[in-house]
Amino acid sequence: VKHPAAADLRELLMRRELRPTAARQAVLARLVGSSRPVAPSQLCGEDLGRRFDRVTIYRTLAALKRAGLVHAVRGTDGAWRYRGQATPPGEGGCPGNHPHFLCLHCGHMQCLSGQRLPHIQVSPGVRVQGKQLLVYGLCAACVRRTGQRSPPTPGISPTPAKA
Ligand SMILES: [Zn+2]
Ligand SMILES: [Zn+2]
Repeated sequence: VKHPAAADLRELLMRRELRPTAARQAVLARLVGSSRPVAPSQLCGEDLGRRFDRVTIYRTLAALKRAGLVHAVRGTDGAWRYRGQATPPGEGGCPGNHPHFLCLHCGHMQCLSGQRLPHIQVSPGVRVQGKQLLVYGLCAACVRRTGQRSPPTPGISPTPAKA
């Protein structure tokens, strides 16, 4: 994961007509530099949470999402997780057009990049606001830690972890 330069972040924000406030720059830097989607509660517990209050962080996430600079995926726990979109496009990040894995034990989410979401036919007249495909269970680290193994789920094949 490449960490974007401050000048690039300011430019990105201004191109989407967002004033490059300190909070927007800091949150965007964190999410573009992240290798996985992260929950706001986690951001509030980090450095960001000492620099900005909760309300500011949540509002900033909403603004970045509206501007299309971050993608959000909702976990089975109801918490949204955010990751920066690719800058420039095609260089990783989370454009959201792939399934995600959520560990129910540690709450970590992974982008399952390289796999496309299925095309879904919806009824005429509906307005789609998003789609997501979430696979959940225990991540490999939690399986090792807890010694639990879930039975294989039909239709879901484990892929060898990348080094
Ligand atoms: Zn885990
Ligand atoms: Zn993703």
